[in-house]
Amino acid sequence: SKLDEKDLVMLKKLGSGNSGTVSKVLHVPSQKTMAKKVILIDSKSVIQTQIIRELRILHECRSPYIIEFFGAYINNYNTIVLCMEYCNCGSLDKILPLCDPPQFPLYALKKLSYSILSGLTYLHAKHKIIHRDIKPSNVLMNHVGDFKLCDFGVSRELTNSLAMADTFVGTSMYMSPERIQGLNYGVKSDVWSMGLMLIELAKGSPVWLEEGEEESPQGPEGILDLLQRIVNEPPPTLTNKISPYTKKPYDRQLCSFIEACLVKDDSLRKSPAELLEEPHGFLAGTNMGVYDKDVKIWAKKIRKIHKAKGENSH
Ligand code: ADP
Ligand code: MG
Repeated sequence: SKLDEKDLVMLKKLGSGNSGTVSKVLHVPSQKTMAKKVILIDSKSVIQTQIIRELRILHECRSPYIIEFFGAYINNYNTIVLCMEYCNCGSLDKILPLCDPPQFPLYALKKLSYSILSGLTYLHAKHKIIHRDIKPSNVLMNHVGDFKLCDFGVSRELTNSLAMADTFVGTSMYMSPERIQGLNYGVKSDVWSMGLMLIELAKGSPVWLEEGEEESPQGPEGILDLLQRIVNEPPPTLTNKISPYTKKPYDRQLCSFIEACLVKDDSLRKSPAELLEEPHGFLAGTNMGVYDKDVKIWAKKIRKIHKAKGENSH
């Protein structure tokens, strides 16, 4: 069955980013709750048609670690609409401030790492897809504690159309040194981004920012300065650092796993498949789901807080 704009009832706005706006909607014929992403695009209609064609590969991406895709269409000549599985705990950037203290528990970080590596390995092995935009807002969690990836780069035309709108769109602090330098980059680039994300979720604040800064730098100077730091400075680490909340050092295996992800030279950095094949001590047991129960209880708690907040804002 094809998706049609008139079958979707708006429930609430979930957020917006560089590329578009996401809402929670009800698909009336199927009674399914979906996340609807609207992307404003100025390109010619041939390009738009090409984008829709390229997005079709998403129908074939079936994995428990990847957000399910329901379809895409062009609306009002200038918007592309994408419908996907709705995740009712939201993205990790929205979950972090709901934690008290704002740090992910170790068992959640373990299951999260295993899920991301599995999702990345699936995308690359089965579809030759590199994610290209791993960051907390592109990893979602549901109320049973499943982690799923969304917003990966499947459509070259879509990426081009977005990049043309603003040179700095798509630039982020999660980008690997090789990518910033314009070198060839591959799946290992996603491993770098994951490492950076793990630091952020473990310590409770973004990595490359100075004390007190909350958001990524705006404007060319701030961004250029950030990019040259990523390329020139030693990789970020949690090793020998003290948590500002617990006043304790971070878990040794977590620190060592992050170090393995944040190897600056990508020829020495492992790929997602390699990290799964020769599992690091930090991941021990994750392939057998030993942390699933703990994460599920935690996700239930998050879901409760999430719900209470959502009702307040209405
Ligand atoms: P960004 O990822 O840069 O924040 P997006 O436009 O991709 O921007 O998404 C906006 C927000 O919508 C995200 O931060 C996330 O919280 C929310 N979101 C996106 N997709 C979903 C989804 N499938 N289920 C629930 N929330 C989602
Ligand atoms: Mg996103």
